[in-house]
Amino acid sequence: MTELKSYRIFIDNEWRNSASGEVFESWNPFTDKPWALIPKCDMRDVDDAVEAAHRAFHSGPWPQMTATERGHLLRRLGDLIARDAEKLAATEVRDNGKLIAEMGAQLRYLPQWLYFYAGLADKIDGSVPPIDKPQMFTYTRREPVGVVAAITPWNSPLMLTAWKLAPALAAGCTLVIKPSEHTSASMLDFAALVAEAGFPPGVVNVVTGFGADVGDPLTRHPKVAKVAFTGGEATGRRIVEASASTFKHLTLELGGKSAQIVFPDADLGSAVSGAVSGIFAATGQTCIAGSRLLVHDSLLDEFSARFVDLARSARMGDPMDPRTQVGPVTTRPQFDRILSYIDIAKGEGADCLLGGAAAQRPECGQGWFIEPTVFGEVSNAMRIAREEVFGPVVSIIPFHDDEEAFAIANDTDYGLAAGVWTQSFARAFEAPKRLQAGTVWVNTYRAVSYLAPFGGMKTSGLGRENGVEAINQYLETKTVWMSWGETPANPFVMR
Ligand code: NAD
Repeated sequence: MTELKSYRIFIDNEWRNSASGEVFESWNPFTDKPWALIPKCDMRDVDDAVEAAHRAFHSGPWPQMTATERGHLLRRLGDLIARDAEKLAATEVRDNGKLIAEMGAQLRYLPQWLYFYAGLADKIDGSVPPIDKPQMFTYTRREPVGVVAAITPWNSPLMLTAWKLAPALAAGCTLVIKPSEHTSASMLDFAALVAEAGFPPGVVNVVTGFGADVGDPLTRHPKVAKVAFTGGEATGRRIVEASASTFKHLTLELGGKSAQIVFPDADLGSAVSGAVSGIFAATGQTCIAGSRLLVHDSLLDEFSARFVDLARSARMGDPMDPRTQVGPVTTRPQFDRILSYIDIAKGEGADCLLGGAAAQRPECGQGWFIEPTVFGEVSNAMRIAREEVFGPVVSIIPFHDDEEAFAIANDTDYGLAAGVWTQSFARAFEAPKRLQAGTVWVNTYRAVSYLAPFGGMKTSGLGRENGVEAINQYLETKTVWMSWGETPANPFVMR
């Protein structure tokens, strides 16, 4: 049996074992075998990491650095990620089974987040509000909020961390990062690059382990000023409750049940291809998965047939093979959950047009694969249309007119994303206005950028990541008053 790779956690720029000395296995979803050992941290490690981040925030070189110098460090880190992109991508594929074709591109793109926020670091400025009192002057300072706990899920571990780390460091914060227990390895490889880039000790720390042992104490820790979280809605709700006692700043990126609307004037070829990519890319394991496909009833038969044909043609297999189009599901519990949703949909009377079972293809080996699954004639009231499946399962829901399409699309607790397929100028402008979602794509789907704000409405989250807007989520405004006037005659009344 091949030996498992052993990882250590990163606190104060030092590599350590967990305080308990315990470890847990990280599994490869394609081989159905463990491949690495990850430290199992607890409250003691959380405390050490937060103390290190707190010290680094208040003393030592970090708070003395100019914003331009912080920018240089971020740029250097971006260069190191670019250098190691293929290696980091391979680790992520081994851990989460996403395609090397996607993860390679994602990791090669990742340095842009570091470069963008590096450039923004020394453009954070305060303001000089005009003031209505004589012989007084006020100005505002934009200051970093403090220690940030960044808690991430398993589907895009480094990208979702970079969305938090880059603006937080540009703002002058320090971080304790807790990756998902299913995909911790790439974050620990990434931590080595943080040290190599020259960040002072304690500025970035990584602790690994489970939600209850590590995530929860982080969200309660009195020296953590902000929690930046991506993950499930139930965990998001727990984090709001846990962080309430110390009124932490929060950014929450949660789940979704996003609608893609195919209007009668859509270019069918683009809509079919975009809808397939919206749900089957990343095996449907993305928060923005277009899992509800709203199709105008005049197109229903032709669209469904073409959509099912394209989905059926997906090449499944080894995610490390650049030709593979649909990889395994990341975790065993997720695999079971998806199959149980498929049963629920069948039980609710949805018509299974494709898939509907675990994949039995020889090229899937021992991996946790599920056939691309399409349900037709779904009603938006069914559980399969209301709850996040987080897998390669899509529901086709017919609609009759635009008003009905908007009503169905918005009839969900979520509000993360939506897609619109139309060639009508009027619909292309009207639909984004009418849809309750943080991102609306028109004639495209799943595009994200360091330049474009991203986040959810309703139960899909709070705050925005990416773009100039994101850095404000790591800053506080301080107002400074100055006076050169006479001492007031009556000190007991407000000036
Ligand atoms: P999850 O909520 O189970 O776990 C996310 C992280 O939270 C993990 O690191 C986990 O250990 C930690 N955690 C668990 N319990 C905690 C607690 N009580 N306190 C603090 N931290 C805790 O989510 P997951 O299963 O890893 O990821 C899938 C979910 O993430 C899906 O619902 C998906 O929609 C969502 N997601 C959202 C986005 C987005 O940007 N909106 C992106 C990707 C994934």
